[in-house]
Amino acid sequence: MADKKKIVILGGGIGGLSAGYFLARSGKFQVTLLEKTNTIGGVCGSFKHDGFILDYGAHKLYSVIPGILDEIKNVMEGRLLRVLKKNRIFLRGHLLDYPLKLGNLAKVLGAGTFLKLGLGYAVTFINGLFDKSPASSYAEYIMKKFGRGTYELVFEPLADKVWGDPSTLHPDMARTRIPASGGIDVILRLLGIKKESKDTSAEYFFYPEKGFGDFPLTLKEKIEQNGGRVFINAGSMHVKREAGRITGIDAVIDGQAHSFECDYMVSSIPLSSLGGLTLSHDKKFIGAVQKLEFRSVVLVYVFVKRPLVLEDQWIFFPEREFMFSRIFEQKQMNPDLGPADRTAICCDFTCTADSRQWKAGDEEIAAKCIEGLIKGGFIKGSDVSGHLVVRFPDFYPRYDLGYQEKIKEVYNGLRQFDNLLLTGRIGMYNYNNADHCFDMGRFITEQLVEGKAINKIMDELESRVADYRIVD
Ligand SMILES: Cc1cc2nc3c(=O)[nH]c(=O)nc-3n(C[C@H](O)[C@H](O)[C@H](O)COP(=O)(O)OP(=O)(O)OC[C@H]3O[C@@H](n4cnc5c(N)ncnc54)[C@H](O)[C@@H]3O)c2cc1C
Repeated sequence: MADKKKIVILGGGIGGLSAGYFLARSGKFQVTLLEKTNTIGGVCGSFKHDGFILDYGAHKLYSVIPGILDEIKNVMEGRLLRVLKKNRIFLRGHLLDYPLKLGNLAKVLGAGTFLKLGLGYAVTFINGLFDKSPASSYAEYIMKKFGRGTYELVFEPLADKVWGDPSTLHPDMARTRIPASGGIDVILRLLGIKKESKDTSAEYFFYPEKGFGDFPLTLKEKIEQNGGRVFINAGSMHVKREAGRITGIDAVIDGQAHSFECDYMVSSIPLSSLGGLTLSHDKKFIGAVQKLEFRSVVLVYVFVKRPLVLEDQWIFFPEREFMFSRIFEQKQMNPDLGPADRTAICCDFTCTADSRQWKAGDEEIAAKCIEGLIKGGFIKGSDVSGHLVVRFPDFYPRYDLGYQEKIKEVYNGLRQFDNLLLTGRIGMYNYNNADHCFDMGRFITEQLVEGKAINKIMDELESRVADYRIVD
């Protein structure tokens, strides 16, 4: 114990816990993790409500990063279900396969619209043969892959709902969310001539039997089994610094003052909170953090007096007439997660923290979501037994056209500490999933064990996370 390096990790979401798991498992580090709330797991957690175990929106486990799924299976020791993926997109009153297929679109679109789409594909196909220049915006990226017609029908309204004005979005926003090797490849898949690859869409995914939150809880247990400590309810933090290093942190935990020394700090908390703890005097840095754009997430759980409502785990809603951009039925992951005679549908949408939607009361938001579910023909008003609204402010990093310069400025500000590492989604301002957070934890540990310098690790981590892709 005495010769182990001391590490303090900030944040008990999947980002902080993954780092803690690998670091503690290596046997070379004494891990102390500090979480400010009274629960573990952050947005990957689950919670109990009205007889249900509920996740924070649709969470599936899947990864194309070599070795990561096997590592997760090891952690979960067989407590993972292999679930056949069922998800569709609701368009013009019809449920269509997702990813979209041209043949399905033909069934629901009028002849004029379908012709327009077909023409769009033809133009995209021909352009794709000659034009290899990179797209300069989200809109251009999608149009180069799918054609203008599909962009306007599906991607533009969906992006507007999820990210806000797509004309101000960086192409990385599309690249991360909609991976595809090339225009021609996409068209072959749309025509159904080529199958989706495991990098673009998975036929199945994994899911922790007891709810997604069992994954972070298991990581916590394993940190403790390896001699680490995980504290919840950690507040009033004060970071101690000395000559470009973080030397420790004071915190009040359950009303008791604690002091932790550290050789390294790993942060998965919002960059604004980390800035407040470490560089509150540095106006340039704080200004840079404030320039980063986010979308806040609203989850509306609607409880329904029926055993099940959907056939899919989740359904996307690109059309503006629906407030939500996706609905998710928890019991489709595992029917044991709720009572036999009732179900819960989670409607999710994003908005900015200064928007009318964010400021609206829970009743108003829930009423709009219930109205949408009724309009879509999924439920009747008399089916509803209650609702619950959960909000996560500033959770989706929004890659605007200048985001790369903005985040570079923030990272550079934090480089003045030569023992501080970043990880996670909000901790790194990286639009990623749980498997990516897990990969970051593994990567950081391998690099520290090798004895690499922090600046070098952060350089490599920054380029590693830029390549993460979300598989639908
Ligand atoms: C609707 C939705 C659907 C998703 N679907 C999937 C999916 O299907 N598959 C998938 O893999 N991923 C999915 N994700 C993404 C996944 O949730 C994130 O990648 C992951 O939760 C990020 O974890 P994190 O640890 O970076 O952040 P968080 O979960 O936000 O954890 C950060 C933690 O830090 C704590 N904290 C904050 N400030 C402080 C402080 N000052 N001191 C101490 N602690 C602090 C917070 O309380 C929190 O516990 C989805 C996300 C959403 C919203």
